[in-house]
Amino acid sequence: MRLERKWKMSYKSRSKPVEAIILGILNARMTLGEKEMQRLHNLDKGFEGEVKFDSLTEKLQCSSYILKDLLLEHNGSKFQIDSLMLTQEPLYYFEVKNYEGDYYFENDRFYTFSKKDKEIKNPLQQLERGESLLRQMLQHYGYRIPIEAYVVFVNPEFHCFQAPLNKPIIFPNQLNRFMKKLNMRPSRLNGSHKKLADHLVSMHQIVLPYDKLPPYTYAQLNKGPLCAVCDSLKTSVVDRKLVCAICGHEELLDHAILRSVEELKLLFPDIKITTVLVHDWFQVVDSMKTIRRVLVQNYNAVGKKEYNFLKLK
Ligand SMILES: [Zn+2]
Repeated sequence: MRLERKWKMSYKSRSKPVEAIILGILNARMTLGEKEMQRLHNLDKGFEGEVKFDSLTEKLQCSSYILKDLLLEHNGSKFQIDSLMLTQEPLYYFEVKNYEGDYYFENDRFYTFSKKDKEIKNPLQQLERGESLLRQMLQHYGYRIPIEAYVVFVNPEFHCFQAPLNKPIIFPNQLNRFMKKLNMRPSRLNGSHKKLADHLVSMHQIVLPYDKLPPYTYAQLNKGPLCAVCDSLKTSVVDRKLVCAICGHEELLDHAILRSVEELKLLFPDIKITTVLVHDWFQVVDSMKTIRRVLVQNYNAVGKKEYNFLKLK
């Protein structure tokens, strides 16, 4: 008997949203407002849930392409897909939610108990919109593959009262059974599946979040290197290592300087990276020479006098 070769590919990976990374840095270097703190919490929590869901789809043995975190646009409407799993048939579309606590549905609306019955976006409507746009997009490009779309609640501490029946929702206690069912489906991929996966990845858009961030300036931010583990500013240099006074994490000094430069570039995309600037930003190294050496070794310099460094070598 010839065994079918099973294969599965993580075709597009997931990385932490840039907005969450920047808000995290700002949170360590200035005081954020309540709204921004909530936004940071939601982004982190959402990302955590998506990573958790990835760990389940990655374990599946059925042949598939898995495309994580796609931002697509059709007819001027943007839509974000947490996870797509392309099997022989269908194309699974997952909207992943990491909500925690008690929620309820009422008249097609979705509420949380925790904030005095506050209405929040109905994930079923979100799913419907995304699925419809994806279907139109696939039709537009001539792909014929059925879509199955689900809202997946991944947090075991989530409970939903008055959940509507016959809606495409996977609750935490159904997740394992759902994954087992997916795994049992026969799937054989061919060139047309690869073409579709490549096409979807090529249409992914990258949107920078700068217009959504609270205002901040270089002068206003607390300087110094953040600990790579706990984001604390209580760090100092000991024997060519950056040591955190809070969690004890140690990092090679050169690596910490590079990380600091990348952070600076992320916060201020138009800023000129110079030795003087990095020296001021990093604070805890006395020697300009050390900063300059790390920059010269790792970046291409543009302009001689000002030592303006542009790109990682
Ligand atoms: Zn630390």
